[in-house]
Amino acid sequence: MKLYSTNLKAPEVSFQEALITGLAPDRGLYMPKSLPTFSKEEIDSFKDAPYPEIAYRVLSKVLDGEVDDESLKAITYDAYNYDVPLEKMDEQTYIMRLDRGPTASFKDFAARMMARLMQYYLSKENKSLTILTATSGDTGSAVAHAFYGLDNIKVIVLFPTDEVSDRQRKQMTTLNENITAISIDGKFDDCQAMVKQAFADEDLKHFNLSSANSINIGRLVPQSIYYIYSYARLRNYPEEIIFSIPSGNFGNMMGCVLARTMGIPVKMIIASVNENDEVPHFLSTGDYEKIVPSKNCLSNAMNVGHPSNLSRLIAIYGGEMDEKGNISKEPDMEKLRKDIYSGSVTDDETKATIKEVYEKYGILIEPHGAVGIKGLLDFRSQTGDNTLAVTLETADPAKFPEHVRNETGIEPELPQSLKEIEAREEHMDYLGTDYASFKEYLKEKLG
Ligand SMILES: *Cc1c(COP(=O)(O)O)cnc(C)c1O
Repeated sequence: MKLYSTNLKAPEVSFQEALITGLAPDRGLYMPKSLPTFSKEEIDSFKDAPYPEIAYRVLSKVLDGEVDDESLKAITYDAYNYDVPLEKMDEQTYIMRLDRGPTASFKDFAARMMARLMQYYLSKENKSLTILTATSGDTGSAVAHAFYGLDNIKVIVLFPTDEVSDRQRKQMTTLNENITAISIDGKFDDCQAMVKQAFADEDLKHFNLSSANSINIGRLVPQSIYYIYSYARLRNYPEEIIFSIPSGNFGNMMGCVLARTMGIPVKMIIASVNENDEVPHFLSTGDYEKIVPSKNCLSNAMNVGHPSNLSRLIAIYGGEMDEKGNISKEPDMEKLRKDIYSGSVTDDETKATIKEVYEKYGILIEPHGAVGIKGLLDFRSQTGDNTLAVTLETADPAKFPEHVRNETGIEPELPQSLKEIEAREEHMDYLGTDYASFKEYLKEKLG
């Protein structure tokens, strides 16, 4: 597997290099030059296979020998040790629940696979590294859990003391072992700035610092697998399917684009967004305008005014967009509109959808999943297209109890993984926003 940079000014690299470095030297994002396709027979053979087995067979074809079969099988079975339910909403609609991992968010799918693949490459070369990451809540906990207990990799996560919820903090501070959590007396932007400065600091180079952020291609590839899985479970090739994806940085949606490239007959990809509607606006007008600052909506993991994966989508459709959002070459807009539909859902509509889905179908969803469902319903009423659709639930309702309670009167039950955390002891260090002290801390901790 060879990968190119979306800025087209960096050499092609192997999957291993793209995974370990994250960003290309020209600041572009890595994309696979080509992907394998799956035949009708292969897709049929996934119908009854367990999720980790499908993940193994897909990755083994995509990575094409870069990771030996035995290790890859062990990695996929270790990473995906939880359920991926497909809940029937009505005859033509299924909800795929991606909320059963250790942090009850779909980010577990990508983070757990990426962590294990990184560990595989590092241990083969007898190397180690430190993941340094700043978080405003959910990404930090998914990353911390994904790398928890792995050899060769330490994780240091910085979070703003007053900006994360108790539950989010506990997900980072109760792990210990190779995970260190630092409570920063400042804002998320301060945490982010200190991390960025550390990456650029020559004195710290020998510690092998790496980020595990959402632009890493190691996150996108695993996010194609659940589309293949749900298609195989629900449909017979070559009948078509529609996916509706609650989107922020558009990494999840890119996973669906990859699945379609690999042969899944996806009739339409619906990328549903909250009131940060820069992508629907771009698709309808051809003009791209970032939303700065992004709007605060209920589906807070999707409050993104400039999705970092948009340049990947544009690259696939023959265009070029740099990291700042400037388009130097138009993509094929007509084709883009034929393949991808993007609609914006307001907070009021999000709440009404949580209520409606509970009252009509007895299913509890949270704000992100509600945006996905409403986007699908809007698409259907605009187009009259009633093709079988899968809409994604990306977090457990218990992570957003107040909205669920307000709309349904139900107190969502905490999943087991989050319950256990409540009882555990917290450990964290405390720092201010002064870079020099942070640097001394890192030298002592890692030296
Ligand atoms: C991150 C996140 C999203 C958005 O996913 P993208 O890949 O950034 O589009 C949606 N829902 C939840 C719960 C998330 O944590």
